[in-house]
Amino acid sequence: MEQFSPIEKQESLDVLNYQIRSCKKCGLHTTRKHALVGEGNINANIMFVALSPGAKEDVQNKMFVGPSGKVFNKLLYAAGIDRNRVFMTNLVKCILPGNRKPKVDEIESCSLFLNDEIAIIQPKIIVPLGYYATRSILLKFNANPDYAAMSFKNINGQLLNFSGVKVYPLTHPSALLYNPSFEAVTIEKYKNLKGLTE
Ligand code: SF4
Repeated sequence: MEQFSPIEKQESLDVLNYQIRSCKKCGLHTTRKHALVGEGNINANIMFVALSPGAKEDVQNKMFVGPSGKVFNKLLYAAGIDRNRVFMTNLVKCILPGNRKPKVDEIESCSLFLNDEIAIIQPKIIVPLGYYATRSILLKFNANPDYAAMSFKNINGQLLNFSGVKVYPLTHPSALLYNPSFEAVTIEKYKNLKGLTE
């Protein structure tokens, strides 16, 4: 994998972010206010990959500022992880109207940007949040078909290794908005993250 200096990383991200912000590759550009670019520490060891911006994120043009962002902050705090030290992005950069599921063509079009973000940031561990992000990351790394066939609940919190890159699927914070009873078990899984990067 090509290595980047911090300046090269920032320059490459700036070019990529310009492409994302002006992207009209799929129909979601017609309903968005903003196409959200990845955000956070460009030298992060941990990269979180969520599904797509929520309503507040779309309006404010920032990652994890809505209700699920509050849950995300709580999970990071409980896990002893500083939000300023991680990189956060979405599989699909534009809001999904009415929180609907993403379409295959939307994921295929947009995940090319995610590939570039991973190549630039070069995280030690990628944390896909929820089913869609996990499935896309597994396909990207040509995961063993047994993994790809697993349902998310069976792979949630399992550490996978792909040629030096670790993948650790976790529950998306928004899931706790609907199922708060999962909070304690989710916190335990988030807590493992710190040890995985030390
Ligand atoms: S979702 Fe992705 S591919 Fe579709 S318009 Fe937005 S940035 Fe482009």
